[in-house]
Amino acid sequence: MFKSFRIGQLFNIPIFIHWSFLLLPLIVIYRSDALETVNIVWELALVFALFGCVLLHEFGHALSARRYGVKTLDIILSIIGGVARLTRLPEKPWQELVVAAAGPAVNVVITAVIGLLLWITGNFDLPYAGVIDSSNFLPILAFANIALAVFNLVPAFPMDGGRILRAGLAMKLSRLRATFIAMVVGQVLATGFAAYGIYSGNYTLIFIAVFVFYGAATEYRGIKKETALSNHKVRDTMEQQFCILQQSHAMNYAIQMLTNTGQQHFVVLNLMSLEGVLTHQNILKSIHEKDTLSPISKYMTKDFVALSADDNIKNAYHLFQNNNYEIIPIIENGVVIGILDKTSLNEFLITQEAK
Ligand SMILES: [Zn+2]
Repeated sequence: MFKSFRIGQLFNIPIFIHWSFLLLPLIVIYRSDALETVNIVWELALVFALFGCVLLHEFGHALSARRYGVKTLDIILSIIGGVARLTRLPEKPWQELVVAAAGPAVNVVITAVIGLLLWITGNFDLPYAGVIDSSNFLPILAFANIALAVFNLVPAFPMDGGRILRAGLAMKLSRLRATFIAMVVGQVLATGFAAYGIYSGNYTLIFIAVFVFYGAATEYRGIKKETALSNHKVRDTMEQQFCILQQSHAMNYAIQMLTNTGQQHFVVLNLMSLEGVLTHQNILKSIHEKDTLSPISKYMTKDFVALSADDNIKNAYHLFQNNNYEIIPIIENGVVIGILDKTSLNEFLITQEAK
């Protein structure tokens, strides 16, 4: 969330604005020095209205994903557009297709609503005059929404159109193979975007090209990892020899365990029941505050999720990816039988990928 500001929350999803977004009004004002103040105001209004539409587009993705039980961490608006950060992607291809298509569909609906409004009021065909004013504001907004929908439907994975392509391919092929083909198509198109962007001096297009090119590769690597992981259970990689701390013990004891055993993160019990986890960071904090005589309960964190040994490793991987967890306790019949930490899971991944 570096350099992003929270501006609010809608449908329980926080909305953030990336600092680059704040450049937009400046760019509009800078570029419109020959215009009258009233036109600059209209131009600014158009930019904000357009980003309102981008926001609605992202809610299209987020709310359709919610229907399939997928949560959205947040929605971030930046100068090149918006992104709804889903905690995971729906795995059934047709669900992914619906979620990807829902964004552009929102822009189509907005266009239809504006079109209807203009038709009812009889202002249907207003020419674009070069400057924005009250007479052409809505038609321009409608055209911009169509442009948004069309642009997003270009099959350049991981853009919406590319996701639709991947979902379509995944109906026939494996998810990995489908992603590979979508990545190649996406990267070829991105190279085209970049070339055209350089040729026409369109910097936004160059940014988007870079985003698509690397985004496609990153997603493909993620799917490759997931495929490697999905054949394993938590049991295969959890640590079965580990120290357990009691929450009433002093932090000194945790420090001693850290130095003696090299274990970085611990599970914390209150007698027999699991109460929290104590991470390396928590331990360092107590040392930093010269507060090593306080009980462990003061420094442990209660924000953790436990898994069962029979859970798929993929679940653990997603938990580590989407949260700041360092350790996951593994529980069987209410007893902690193992721990899984991020580092050892990553090491396991590397050995799997090398195979
Ligand atoms: Zn989208």
